Parts: sequence; C-alpha cells; structure tokens
Amino acid sequence: MHTQVPDFYACLGVDRAASKESIVAAFRRLAMKWHPDRHFKAADKVEAEKQFKTIKTAYETLTDDSRRKYYDQEDADRQRRASARRGADVNEKVAVTIAEGFNGTHISFEEAVVDHCERCAGQRGEWMQCSRCSGFSKYSRLSVCPVCRNTGQEWRNCGPCHGLGTVTRKRKFTVRTPAGLVDGSVLTVKERGKPSEHGGLNGDLHIAITIKPESGWKRKGLNLSGTLKLPFSIALLGGTIELLLPTGKTVQVQVPARTNAGKKIRLAGQGLFDAANDKRGDVLLSTSIVLPSVKRKLTPEMEAVLRQIDGE
Ligand SMILES: [Zn+2]
Ligand SMILES: [Zn+2]
Repeated sequence: MHTQVPDFYACLGVDRAASKESIVAAFRRLAMKWHPDRHFKAADKVEAEKQFKTIKTAYETLTDDSRRKYYDQEDADRQRRASARRGADVNEKVAVTIAEGFNGTHISFEEAVVDHCERCAGQRGEWMQCSRCSGFSKYSRLSVCPVCRNTGQEWRNCGPCHGLGTVTRKRKFTVRTPAGLVDGSVLTVKERGKPSEHGGLNGDLHIAITIKPESGWKRKGLNLSGTLKLPFSIALLGGTIELLLPTGKTVQVQVPARTNAGKKIRLAGQGLFDAANDKRGDVLLSTSIVLPSVKRKLTPEMEAVLRQIDGE
C-alpha cells in the first residue's frame, strides 16, 4: 500500500474500532454532504466529486471484512516502518600518534547490544499470586484487595531486566583506520552508533581524530618541523645522516660540506599525508651541530689539526 493512501477512518470520521453500522451511518451522512448532484457551481462540483470518491473508497474498504483486515494490517505496518527511526549517532574523539594517523591503526570501542532477556524471554515479567491476600480475596465479597482488586494475581516485573524484556550489554569492537588521517579528520563507521529503539538501523559512529604532540617535532598543517643534529665532522665535511621521522619512516638526509648550524633543509613530500584531500606536507629541518662528547679525548695531534683548520 502506498503511503499516499488516505487514512480511511479519518476520512469517515470514525475511530479504528468502529462497528460496520457506524461506518455505514458515517458514510451516509458524508455522502449527503458531498454527493456531486447536490453541488451546482463548477468548482464546488469538482471538489465534491473528489471528496465523494474518497469517502466511497473508504466506505467500500471498511465495510468489506477481508479488505478492512488487509487495510488495517498494511496501515499498522506503514506506521511501524515510518516510526522505525534510526538509532542516534555517536561522536567519539580519539587522539592518535603521528605515525598511527599516517599509517593507519586499530582503535577499540565499546557498543551497547540489546538482547532479549533470557530469564523472561522478553515477556517482561509474570503474573504471580497476590502478595497481599495470597489470592484469597477472589472468594471474598466483603472487601477489595488493594493490590489485586480480587483477581488474586499481581504482576511482578522480571528482575534481571527490570520489566523491560531486554538487557543491554557492552561489546568491544575494533575499527581499522585507513592511512592518511590528520588532525581534524573524521571517520564515519556506518551503523556502529546507538541501537534503534524502534526496530530501525543503528546510528553511525563518527570518530574525530586528533593528533598527539610529538616531542622534538612541531606540526603546522601537513608540515613537520624539527632539528637535524649534525656531528661535528659531518657539518664540516658533509655526509649522509639517517633520520627517523615521526611518521615512522626513516630517511637519508644528504648534508653538504660546511653546513652551519641553523641551516634549513626541506624534505619535500616527507611530511604528513592527508588521504581525504590527497595532499602531502614537507619535513623542514633546522640543523644544529653536536660537538664530540667529553669521553672523546682529543690527542695533541688532533688538536693541532683542528687549530690548523681554523687558522686557514
Ligand atoms: Zn526479563
Ligand atoms: Zn490480592
């Protein structure tokens, strides 16, 4: 049945439990009002024909037992589907390291799962012998038991589910995040939000990603900046330095001879990766020079050579 089918009961102005007689009476009353023969202006006649057709269909449907039964069933299904709203969306905020955002990672969440109560099998409770009168009020005509009103029985809610018929338990699940997440990325996991209370689908889970700070590194957009520490000899003579980036990648940085402290070196495309926008940042390094540790004893010959270098 299409959703545009009118509410036949409302058309006739009767309630859903209306008897066949009252439906017939309601139809006769409305037919008098809307019969096209009783309207003379052209516009009135068109409206009357429309109204008359609707009430006639309603009347024919609701006075035929099998058609009324079918209509009632369809009507109930339609209302149930319309009210089967999705569960609520859930928003979570998760902080990950630069490497986890860059390479992808696993994030664990808990979700609520609604099950039928095993104790009462969804029945919510049971009728028990009245606790006040132990059922004896059934045989009494003199007084009324305030608990059971002389039925001898009282409703007792199921204990484990508190009369809900369902129990909610927590279940862990893991989301595998894709590579290329940056600060502010939002991941949506379909149907992992709150369950629907109306038989509809679960809501969605939205995961807002933030990136944890990394000591020794600064983030600006997709760029990472840090310090490249040069051993004294490499600063002077040049060479290659292996550097572990916060993304987890190891890169070989070529250092030219006679590199001073504070020189900027850019590693293009080695910064963060934003998969959603398909963009890559750079790594910006600023050099510093590290002198040999105090354990490294300098012989008089080595000192003489170094003094020679500065002297030139
Ligand atoms: Zn129960
Ligand atoms: Zn009682």
